[in-house]
Amino acid sequence: MTVKNIAAKIREMIETSRQCAIFTGAGISTESGIPDFRSPTGLWKNNMPIDFRDFVASEEARVEAWRRKFALEDKFLAARPTRGHKAVAHLIEIGRATCVITQNIDNLHQASGIDDNQIIELHGNGTYATCLTCHRRHEMQWIGEVFKASGLPPDCTHCGGIVKSATISFGQSMPEQKMREAEAASLACDLFIVLGSSLVVYPAAGFPIIAKRNGAGLVIINQEETELDTIADLVGHNDIGDVMAPLMDLQAGS
Ligand code: NAD
Repeated sequence: MTVKNIAAKIREMIETSRQCAIFTGAGISTESGIPDFRSPTGLWKNNMPIDFRDFVASEEARVEAWRRKFALEDKFLAARPTRGHKAVAHLIEIGRATCVITQNIDNLHQASGIDDNQIIELHGNGTYATCLTCHRRHEMQWIGEVFKASGLPPDCTHCGGIVKSATISFGQSMPEQKMREAEAASLACDLFIVLGSSLVVYPAAGFPIIAKRNGAGLVIINQEETELDTIADLVGHNDIGDVMAPLMDLQAGS
């Protein structure tokens, strides 16, 4: 299907739906310069992820995790909301969608103007860090300065615990409250729109399935095929910005 036809079809599905839920992955942010994980140019071409248990057990793993984090920091700091983020913010602002469920950690949905309480971050947020013991927040700038000066990440200044980016790594428990909120949103909607996810990371990729099984329509916009394409009502292997930008003139429903 052409981009124009996909955009027209999504418009029609949104206009005839009662309530949409939007689910985003790394693909919505690539236009901002932040690479995704699994595309041919994605981050995993060079770096396998560091498991949470290794991060906790090994200083070497922690140093490597922070080295990777700061190697990408300039890209994250320079990134601005994409056409996809802006379209999602618009759909929420006009009340067509109630929330965005995101796997992303880049804070770009917040930067696009969506309220925190309408953003369900399943994998946390990489713009700050927390202590794994006392859960106090620590700022990236301070951690970056210590890391640059000593080659080691700092320990928590309050309790001496291990400090980690406030993201959910493989092997780390999912945030229970966010999981409940995402499930409720998936069950409450009658249209579930996936933007830029390979849909291979579970449990996050289970939400489109929950929505579909509950009777919602399922739309997937992703440049590459996903394993859930076969159960979707509309699939576009297109660029998210190209598909979503024309929806910026959608009006609130009656
Ligand atoms: P993924 O890398 O597995 O999949 C991204 C998908 O987006 C790919 O299939 C790719 O084809 C598609 N894509 C890329 N650019 C696109 C575009 N402009 N238009 C349409 N499709 C596009 O990412 P995922 O499914 O989100 O899962 C990986 C994990 O990666 C998540 O848990 C997330 O926490 C983490 N991650 C986040 C960021 C971020 O916050 N921006 C970046 C990299 C990885």
